[in-house]
Amino acid sequence: MKSLRKSLFILPILCLFLLLINFSVYAVSDIEKEIAKQNVEKYKEKFGLAELSTTEEKRINNIFDRLTVKAHPDAIDLNFKLYVIDAPVLNAAYMGDGHMMVFKGLLDQVENDNQLAAIIAHEIGHGVNDDIQDSINIIQGIQLGGALVDLITKDSENRDSSNLIANISMILLKKGFDRGQEKEADYYSVFLTKKAGYDPHGTIGVMKLLKRKSGGSSDSELAELFSDHPNLDNRIEYLTALVTEVENAQKLYYSPVATASRLAQGILAANNSLIYSTYTESIQDAISLESFSTNSQINRVIKKIKVLKTDSSFSYDMELRNQVDGTARVAINYLSDAEIISLAIDLMKTEYGWRVVREPRLYKSR
Ligand SMILES: [Zn+2]
Repeated sequence: MKSLRKSLFILPILCLFLLLINFSVYAVSDIEKEIAKQNVEKYKEKFGLAELSTTEEKRINNIFDRLTVKAHPDAIDLNFKLYVIDAPVLNAAYMGDGHMMVFKGLLDQVENDNQLAAIIAHEIGHGVNDDIQDSINIIQGIQLGGALVDLITKDSENRDSSNLIANISMILLKKGFDRGQEKEADYYSVFLTKKAGYDPHGTIGVMKLLKRKSGGSSDSELAELFSDHPNLDNRIEYLTALVTEVENAQKLYYSPVATASRLAQGILAANNSLIYSTYTESIQDAISLESFSTNSQINRVIKKIKVLKTDSSFSYDMELRNQVDGTARVAINYLSDAEIISLAIDLMKTEYGWRVVREPRLYKSR
């Protein structure tokens, strides 16, 4: 009875503590900072930091700097730091608060800088995507509702914040990231490596390397970290498709006029998927092709052009009206003896090349 009363007293305090942590998530939370620190310490103590030659140090610092400069706008609150851990393991891990570890084994085995950049970019991706904080929130939810509350409240001597952090920290290391989080970090790594001037094929190369070499580790603790990189076949397939898509898009949409030209042809052929492929959403998937097909503005334009097309003098031309700082406007003029239909096309430079940002607007009709 006495211990039940104790538990009832402790629970509101625990809840308050968790609430306070959750209210500070506008930046990296204190709990994430503490967990990152503890987990980095854990690996530093166990294996030590690798002693790098001047050349090795220069190489890794250079790659790290080039990537973090480009990643900074996506995660201004993160304190990016890289540790090279002295273990002959082919792995890397994200610890939270911008801290990441690359094991010396991986550093020694990568075939080129593009692969090393891909690894670091992937770990940065976990940071940009707030994956540690998301996991902390989930674990806290489970703790509040489930068995871990019992565990914490039963341990009457040690139920303060450090106990809670140690518990979460342990679960995080055991659990790793889920498939969705891995996929998003892979996705980010393709664009970050590209932005920093590396060949994004490195992301595929490193997965193939992991596949060829994995399976040799007998140390259970290190094998555990491999759970950060499951499904290598799926990931190779996904990354190959993504890198190809990005490269094709860039070939097709290398200039505002090239993109507008595809849009113009799509309207002419009443080909919705061709039109849709010129839009930013077509790759980023903010809207689906299916929902796009019912777009009333596009359908109205297609109908008008269909009528013009029956005129034997029908043709179309394009003018680049304006292009500043990654944005552009192109006018498409569909002409016939009877009528001119002019469309204003607004474009934006993205990782995929120049893309249409909204429906064409009719601005002149005769
Ligand atoms: Zn990962």
